[in-house]
Amino acid sequence: MTDTVARPVPGAIADEDWAAAVATVREYAPGGRVLLICHVNPDGDALGSMLGFALGLRRLGVHDLQATFPGEFEVPAPFTAMPGLDLLVAADAVTTDPDLVLVFDVAAESRMGALAGVLDRARASVVLDHHASNTGFGGVRLVDPAAAATSVVVEELLDRLDVPLDAEIAECLYIALATDTGSFRFDMTTPRVHEMAARLIATGLRPAEISRRIFDSRPFGAMKLFADVLARAELEPGAAGGLGMVWTYATLDDLARHGQRPYVLDALIDPVRCVAEVDVSVVVKQVADGEWAVSLRSKGAVDVSAVAVTLGGGGHRLAAGFTGHGTPSEVIKTLREQLTPEKRI
Ligand code: AMP
Ligand code: MN
Ligand code: MN
Repeated sequence: MTDTVARPVPGAIADEDWAAAVATVREYAPGGRVLLICHVNPDGDALGSMLGFALGLRRLGVHDLQATFPGEFEVPAPFTAMPGLDLLVAADAVTTDPDLVLVFDVAAESRMGALAGVLDRARASVVLDHHASNTGFGGVRLVDPAAAATSVVVEELLDRLDVPLDAEIAECLYIALATDTGSFRFDMTTPRVHEMAARLIATGLRPAEISRRIFDSRPFGAMKLFADVLARAELEPGAAGGLGMVWTYATLDDLARHGQRPYVLDALIDPVRCVAEVDVSVVVKQVADGEWAVSLRSKGAVDVSAVAVTLGGGGHRLAAGFTGHGTPSEVIKTLREQLTPEKRI
């Protein structure tokens, strides 16, 4: 197969969509007001994809650039050294009538909060994503559920715009790729993923230093908080038709007692999902009175994205989330009822 032949990968983005995205960026970005948006409570893929692409636009000579995300305007400590952070603007301070909006790693408009309305006011919009549950909003849509991270889509669009990778763009895209593949361990860690990682590392990145900063560093108080929250975990071997579930919860009071910020809880699913006896793991994290952000993971036997979608959330087959209401026990009861045989993979 030569380079000039289109490679039809199932679930991949059609050539006309790539062409439309390139044409849209070339038409509206130079000389226009460009707004980049990623999802609420941004993770490494959301921030890395958005800032990596923003830096790419800057290399193209685009100067009116703002990058933002809804909700509390706080960059989690692991990402406070990410290149391109100077482009971040609080959501309530961004332009209300951009020429071009680019959206990163957003599965549903609800994940953009009040920023969702700006999509309709913009002259053009491009959505870059990889969620199987993506709801189909936006103008030009580059959504590839087979991509390991949104940054895979970003790298290809930058390439098609003739923006070369430099070390800063590469660091953003590497953090995004490493985050969503669980440091190259999860399901979607294909040869293509390692080839992309090789291109990124070749710009001079130091993976060990980045990994320590992103994954292997947390305050002492966060470790003590994890100890409390893990100590109350419950094992339910009979849940999910006998596939088993483990769950725990963390309250705002837990965070306050240990002097920790909410984002530290994003790493808590990792020890929980290692429990050998079960397929499904769950962390229920309080965000307000009676409101909980629920993280779901499966080892491969349950489509937790389908479960999350029935509960108003979304995600990927083996990693998903939704917003729960009531007490942690009530949230888990609602969830337990959705772990039905048709959610089996
Ligand atoms: P998390 O457990 O927060 O790491 O999220 C796992 C995956 O589910 C990520 O791809 C999220 O984008 C997605 N996700 C989490 N919560 C929601 C939600 N409320 N709605 C849609 N997607 C979600
Ligand atoms: Mn994400
Ligand atoms: Mn992602």
